[in-house]
Amino acid sequence: MNTNSRAIAAYLGLAIGDALGSTVEFMTPREIVAQYGVHDTLCGGGWLHLKPGHVTDDTTMSLALGDSILKEKQVNALAIACAFDNWMRGKPIDIGNTVRRNLVLFRMTGNPEAPYSDHDAGNGAAMRVLPVALATFDQSEDAVRQACRAQAHVTHHSALSDAACECIVFMVQDALRGVDKIYLLDTHANQLATKHPEFNFQEARPLSNPSGYIVDTLKAVFQSFFKTKDFRECLVDVVNRGGDADTTGAIAGMLAGAYYGLQSIPNSWLMGLESNTSLECIKQAESLINFNISMSV
Ligand code: MN
Ligand code: MN
Repeated sequence: MNTNSRAIAAYLGLAIGDALGSTVEFMTPREIVAQYGVHDTLCGGGWLHLKPGHVTDDTTMSLALGDSILKEKQVNALAIACAFDNWMRGKPIDIGNTVRRNLVLFRMTGNPEAPYSDHDAGNGAAMRVLPVALATFDQSEDAVRQACRAQAHVTHHSALSDAACECIVFMVQDALRGVDKIYLLDTHANQLATKHPEFNFQEARPLSNPSGYIVDTLKAVFQSFFKTKDFRECLVDVVNRGGDADTTGAIAGMLAGAYYGLQSIPNSWLMGLESNTSLECIKQAESLINFNISMSV
């Protein structure tokens, strides 16, 4: 498996997780069982009444971010803020409260860095972080961290969001290199929990109905990713927990896609993803992973 195809799998994984999870977003596991048994198809619906295979803000903000990086040939906070602002003007089908508030503030101030707030620890910056992981694949650790923060702080400026975004990016990058799961666990997931005990996910009871709080989101993603054996099992496990399921699906999808690769993604999901989204994800993944212009953040 080469890095290119793993990068494509990560991007398609993000979109597939988003499309799969959106059907059951804000439902409890009990409600999901009553309505679907086990939810495992890209059937659309949900509170947004999506068509089958369609995606939400998690994927469309990622594409807006990737576009900005490719156009600017760098991870530039101001350009990203403008790209997100344009995205918001396009009346997306859903948008997080923190994203909206800080983009409205950006319109007034022109400052692409949101003010620091411990309360802005939602999962909005982490759900769209994949383009940064791909674009900075060959960069130094410092450059990767800087790019993560520039991207995240446009809407989410909080220590826990930063820690999560950086952890996801380094995990995805190592998964693209083909490391094993124990390594991802020891080097990244457990380290994050050591540094920020909020993220300790090794609990007896698996987290159900995860909220949009980044700590909940990542705990659910890690529990599902580390206890399952393939892409399909991981995504089905995480979205059937309900709650912010499109976002747990999106983050689990980028990670599992990078780790298990393209062959591991069920054909019905690859075929079920809305075709323009699928083409955009593939195109961006290929461009971003081969993006080796020196970064200035
Ligand atoms: Mn969403
Ligand atoms: Mn969501």
